[in-house]
Amino acid sequence: MKKVLVLEDEASIRSFVVINLRRSGYEPIEAGTGAEALEQLRRNPDIKVALLDIMLPDIDGFEVCRQIRASDTKIGIIMLTARTQEMDKVTGLMTGADDYVTKPFSPTELTARIDALYRRVGGDEPVDAFEMTQGPFVLNTRNRTLEKNGERIKLTQLEYAIMKMFMDNPGRALSREDILNAVWGRDYFGELKIVDVNIRRLRIKIEDDSTNPTYITTVWGYGYKWGI
Ligand code: CA
Repeated sequence: MKKVLVLEDEASIRSFVVINLRRSGYEPIEAGTGAEALEQLRRNPDIKVALLDIMLPDIDGFEVCRQIRASDTKIGIIMLTARTQEMDKVTGLMTGADDYVTKPFSPTELTARIDALYRRVGGDEPVDAFEMTQGPFVLNTRNRTLEKNGERIKLTQLEYAIMKMFMDNPGRALSREDILNAVWGRDYFGELKIVDVNIRRLRIKIEDDSTNPTYITTVWGYGYKWGI
């Protein structure tokens, strides 16, 4: 689980943030004071992003940030600032923080910032990994489904695996051997022709005109290429 520390003393704001983080697939770890936040970080060394409110009942958010940074250079830190706080002061004190979000913020904005930071600090898995969008196609790697222009296209598991490989390598010519090894496994003793058979079926399902394919093109004598 992708843990995010939420340090915010106002319970209503904290629960608003927590609910939205859960909805986006994060596991929020809550703290209401600076001391609690530092304690939670000690207990959860796998927290990769921290949201720090500035005005707190004990030590302020900048001090929390400074103390975190003293021992951890990798964690991503986002400060939650109030609009009334002078931005000069905020940015001056921001040494050590990676980003800031001004209150009141929308859940979408906050999640987008966390997603971006999570990617930069290298979470266990890319946050956006479960949905890949290319042209009219959306591949959902969690449900293993494909949509074209919002319509579900039914794929076999092998066809899905081929699509995933294509979408992971846009514009790159993939040899039939590469596809066979990646999708069927290196210990598969079948013929390369099985790749062509599956590509032909896949084209019928995803191309506008399978006799004149534009997404999966043939690289003669080599293999196939995915392009949007
Ligand atoms: Ca506060």
